[in-house]
Amino acid sequence: MAKKGMLIVLSGPSGSGKDTVISELLKKNSELKVSVSLTTRNKREGEIDGESYYFVSREYFQKKLDEGGFLESAEYGTNLYGTPKAPVDEMLAAGKNVILKIDVQGAEKIRALYPECVTVFILPPSSRVLESRLRGRASDDEEDIQRRLLIAKEEIRRCVEYTYVVVNDRLEDAVDDVLAIISSESHKTLRNKKIISEVINND
Ligand code: 5GP
Repeated sequence: MAKKGMLIVLSGPSGSGKDTVISELLKKNSELKVSVSLTTRNKREGEIDGESYYFVSREYFQKKLDEGGFLESAEYGTNLYGTPKAPVDEMLAAGKNVILKIDVQGAEKIRALYPECVTVFILPPSSRVLESRLRGRASDDEEDIQRRLLIAKEEIRRCVEYTYVVVNDRLEDAVDDVLAIISSESHKTLRNKKIISEVINND
């Protein structure tokens, strides 16, 4: 049986650049997987259904919630987001390391369910940079930008709940930092009990 994969919770306020960090992580480490969430929010330009998110109606989301199909779900702004349970369980069982790109509320729930998960918070280098990144998204209106800025400030206050904080100033450095965290976490003795006992017992 393969070694069970690690669950990597990656959070950061909207505008922290975590989507770009994740796509670069996947290019550098093809073994990594990302869970695709369901959301009730509208698709932004360039987003692909089934890749960025599964874009669903409130009714469908609620049905899936009632069926116990989510590992966790949360309301963010005026929209619902949820991590589908089955694909994550399957990837972990297959030994894959799985990234959950979720908000601080979701991270809290995952930490309670999987205390051994790795939690990383992506921080923008300054609030000025955060605001200009948010404004650079033509798809969000002013009201949405203001709402996201408020949520962002609240989320950043909660970054102390995470084990690791990575500042996303230079993208390449941020990506290398996350890869280094994943690598050292995977070498923790506790995660390697199986191989240790195999080596001991096969001698
Ligand atoms: P956005 O609308 O900018 O794509 O995402 C808004 C926030 O929702 C981000 O912080 C993102 O990480 C978070 N998010 C995306 N998917 C999920 C999910 O499945 N669960 C939770 N709790 N948060 C999510």
